[in-house]
Amino acid sequence: MTLMHDLIAAIGADAVSNDPAVLAVMSNDVYRGSGVPALIVRPTSVADLQAAARICCSAGVAMVPRGGGASYTDGYLFDAGGHVLFDTGALDSIEIDVDNAVVTVGAGATWAKLKDALAVHGLRTPFWGPFSGLAATVGGSVSQNTLSHGSGTYGISAQSVLSLDVVLASGDLLKTGASTATRFYGPDLTGLFTGDCGALGIKATIRLPLIAIRPRFEAVSFAFDSFAACHAGVSRAQREGLDDSHFGLDLALSQGQIARQDGVAAKLKIARDLFAKAPNAFVGVKQLIRMAVAGDAAMRAGEYMGHFIVEGVDATDTTARAARLRAVIAPHGREIANSVPSFVRALPFAPLTNILGPSGERWVPIHGVLQQDAVVPFHDALKAFYETRKAEMERLGIWSGTMFSPAGSSGFLYEVALYWPDDRTDYHRHTLTPDHVAGLKPYPENAEARAYTHQLKAEIIALYQQFGAAHFQIGRAYPYRDRLDPQARALLLGIKAALDPKGLMNPGALGL
Ligand SMILES: Cc1cc2nc3c(=O)[nH]c(=O)nc-3n(C[C@H](O)[C@H](O)[C@H](O)COP(=O)(O)OP(=O)(O)OC[C@H]3O[C@@H](n4cnc5c(N)ncnc54)[C@H](O)[C@@H]3O)c2cc1C
Repeated sequence: MTLMHDLIAAIGADAVSNDPAVLAVMSNDVYRGSGVPALIVRPTSVADLQAAARICCSAGVAMVPRGGGASYTDGYLFDAGGHVLFDTGALDSIEIDVDNAVVTVGAGATWAKLKDALAVHGLRTPFWGPFSGLAATVGGSVSQNTLSHGSGTYGISAQSVLSLDVVLASGDLLKTGASTATRFYGPDLTGLFTGDCGALGIKATIRLPLIAIRPRFEAVSFAFDSFAACHAGVSRAQREGLDDSHFGLDLALSQGQIARQDGVAAKLKIARDLFAKAPNAFVGVKQLIRMAVAGDAAMRAGEYMGHFIVEGVDATDTTARAARLRAVIAPHGREIANSVPSFVRALPFAPLTNILGPSGERWVPIHGVLQQDAVVPFHDALKAFYETRKAEMERLGIWSGTMFSPAGSSGFLYEVALYWPDDRTDYHRHTLTPDHVAGLKPYPENAEARAYTHQLKAEIIALYQQFGAAHFQIGRAYPYRDRLDPQARALLLGIKAALDPKGLMNPGALGL
């Protein structure tokens, strides 16, 4: 095969694989499987990444970038197969420039690795990773827009990028930044590539700003009796921007996904981590006592729960922010034990056990970012929709949960998680430890439940669209191209044609 021969000649045999076992794993994302790649390349330098792209371009072969593989929107899946999958995992260099408050990261570095490297200097990036940061890469997150850690104050991944170096389909290297001091020097070319799901090129290097770690924190949790009350409290908190991160869960997820992690072994681990990381032993003890007294019931104290992590420079600062947060939310809910955010604070990047449901069911999240006044109406419409599908969902053993996160002050990310009984894929078997899988219920292949879940997913996305939702992680799962007005769509298509005239770069992502 000359493509393989040419790639090996250019970047070395160790960086090119056609091992069927590896191809099988890499042709699945967290949600499902797709076409099998012809080859996988794993370049160890930007020059090798460029060389591999050049070879694929002249061979007319589709190129599909993959970071940590922790997404579920078909972003690195290619139905037709026969493509070259670009695994960026070996591009994981980290160069920290303390004086200029800039870190230059290889696209394949994980958020967990970046966090550890920066912590030594008392520094962090403003947005500092998704919950999947043990596997998720900086390049993958910046390519599909990601939120969680740091999003309460600093927004999503794209808002923490200074500039990017992108390898285009031709193999040429495009640098988005003409200055290392600021991103904002004329039109925002960096922004063009954030959220592109790899359709415009493969990010090789990313520069992010650095800020000082705020050493003190307080975890605060609230329970709400209705979704409307929850939204009222959380949206007020969003406006204040007091927390570094917050997220919410409904009862189903509080009892399922998170509760599972709250077993004895996990509690002991939390205890150890809290003591190790608490600003002083007293705070650690206080948190442990709250968790112990509250017990598991605390996580089920209402229909909806909001969990906040507030950071400050010292105790006075942290206490003042937490007090203001409590005052803003109190009219809408009641404070409960802070076990869940304490857990998350202690283990911000947990092992990826949540890629399956609490009993080992399959899992797919579906989200929309809604304008604040559309949130409660959307929620009501979703509940009404579930009523119409209830009998089939029950018959097939499909159930759902809800999670939410802030997207600035104006956007509310409402995420549905669907669970269905079905066999695991090679992705699950590869990602989870045999010990973990042994503790889960086995499920036989269940094509009917899978197909019905897929249909529900499409219907829920259509419902989000009716309420004007935007989407992160567009991949091949959410509409984008056809949501743009004609002028904007023509511009996008022109940009794609200019950067990738043969249409070889992640074809189909963003609808391109
Ligand atoms: C347990 C779990 C928890 C999660 N928690 C969160 C969360 O808190 N917040 C959140 O937003 N998401 C979350 N996710 C979703 C997902 O993990 C993240 O969005 C993450 O950022 C994906 O990064 P990745 O490196 O795994 O990207 P991948 O899944 O490998 O790729 C994502 C997309 O980016 C493209 N891509 C990857 N690398 C590059 C590159 N170098 N250049 C160009 N394109 C590229 C791919 O083609 C694909 O379209 C979670 C997922 C799991 C399984």
